[in-house]
Amino acid sequence: MTSELDKNLHEAEALLQRFRSGVLPHFIDGKADPGTSGAVFENSTPIDNSTIGEIAAGNADDIDAACNAAAAAFAEWENTPGKERKKILHKIADGIEANARDIALIESYDSGQAMRFMGKAAIRGAANFRFFADMAPGARDGQSLPAEEHINYTMRQPIGPVGVITPWNTPFMLSTWKIAPALAAGCTVVHKPAEWSPYTAMMLAEIAHDAGLPDGVLNCVQGIGEDAGKALTEHPKIKAVAFVGESMTGSHIMRQGAATLKRVHFELGGKNPVIVFDDADLERALDAVVFMIYSLNGERCTSSSRLLIQESVHDEFVARLQERVGNLRVGHPLDPATEIGPLIHPRHMEKVCSYFDIATEDGANIAAGGKAVEGAGNYVEPTLFVGAKSDMRIAQEEIFGPVLTAISFKDEAEAIAIANNIEYGLAGYVWTSDIGRGHRLARELDVGMIWVNSENNRHLPAPFGGMKASGIGRDGGDYSFEFYMETKNVCIALGSHRVPKLGTA
Ligand code: NAD
Repeated sequence: MTSELDKNLHEAEALLQRFRSGVLPHFIDGKADPGTSGAVFENSTPIDNSTIGEIAAGNADDIDAACNAAAAAFAEWENTPGKERKKILHKIADGIEANARDIALIESYDSGQAMRFMGKAAIRGAANFRFFADMAPGARDGQSLPAEEHINYTMRQPIGPVGVITPWNTPFMLSTWKIAPALAAGCTVVHKPAEWSPYTAMMLAEIAHDAGLPDGVLNCVQGIGEDAGKALTEHPKIKAVAFVGESMTGSHIMRQGAATLKRVHFELGGKNPVIVFDDADLERALDAVVFMIYSLNGERCTSSSRLLIQESVHDEFVARLQERVGNLRVGHPLDPATEIGPLIHPRHMEKVCSYFDIATEDGANIAAGGKAVEGAGNYVEPTLFVGAKSDMRIAQEEIFGPVLTAISFKDEAEAIAIANNIEYGLAGYVWTSDIGRGHRLARELDVGMIWVNSENNRHLPAPFGGMKASGIGRDGGDYSFEFYMETKNVCIALGSHRVPKLGTA
């Protein structure tokens, strides 16, 4: 054991004592709440699948309590001046920064994501709060739309209490990406975190409370998706649901929210192509290809899980890729040297490993990996499938692990056809030295986000989201406010126009 791993592990164990010693409660109306039923579920670490602790299994009554708290807090929070909301959100960011190492250690232990990435993810959570804090004072601003005989202007107001439902991959950062703009807009929130990664959601609720966020403005209910999550999407006091997770769950949520006409925002699955042309800077492309599928255990919505490689450079590129994949360091997530940690849950690991047989049955070859790592924990060898065809399951389905499917193509037209031959449409990556081709591909690819000659570099004002089965709506900058707020139009007559007369003789 390296001394750094040793140190991280000791620190994580000390922090986890708190979660091992009692049931993790909900956080409702400014305080820890054990829930109404006493029911619990266990949460384990993917490092060796040992139990970390018990979690309160929220039900419809707990969701009702949280939604009532959010509804009661709404009037005051909505009318809190933007400048004040800004101050509180910056204080939350301060709290996240002060606790960033603890958050990273717990999340790494709980989710299996390597510490080298989790440290940055916690800091990104703080950056999300700062970014939307600064936008809070202008959230209600509208547009002036003068016409000949009338002046129209718009104004915005927060939609009301909202539900936020998040998944287990980079859970802390993802929840801040949803919760920060909601609070900046003046909405109150009920958060239902993923059952496989429950702890840091509680930490966020506590940090926010300590930063002075009024009671009831941010509530957190733990629980299973089909119980607590479903109840949240059906609750009449919740006006909108921001959801990050699987496409199939999105479709359930749309159905569940239909009776109460919920506004929904979905960030769903992906099977994102990275297209490498023979005129690309192959060295940089190689770095990006490896980074974008094997970092974060490949459990990442924007991972480039399909490599489309031009046939003229296919063999050379794949040989170099194979070598790099073989060098990836799989290990304990708290070891700073680790590049790939264990997958979140044995059930997820089983799903990922099932594709090793599917690949060979469908006629592809395994050029690297293709096995679970023996021993305790959900460790999987980073895997590279080659010789794949676009219609194979390994090229169509979201595997959500450190598994890359390489497909060769002849020319630009074929690359576009393969890239678009899929139900998903989240992100696309293009590597070429031809600027015109970069722009052409950006126009032709049916995805919400395109990076040319780059890994997924994020800019917070830029729109983030997917097309097709990858999502509905965009986050980022003002796009987030469009979701969390209602736009009202006000039309004022200048007094000179003729009003139609009815009922006159
Ligand atoms: P999931 O859909 O199984 O669960 C996500 C959340 O939904 C959890 O909190 C779960 O408890 C809850 N849930 C489940 N069923 C529900 C129901 N019927 N009603 C209400 N809530 C319910 O997803 P996951 O396995 O936790 O996460 C992985 C998925 O998330 C992948 O498909 C990944 O691509 C996607 N994801 C997308 C983005 C994006 O930005 N597009 C980002 C991260 C993850």
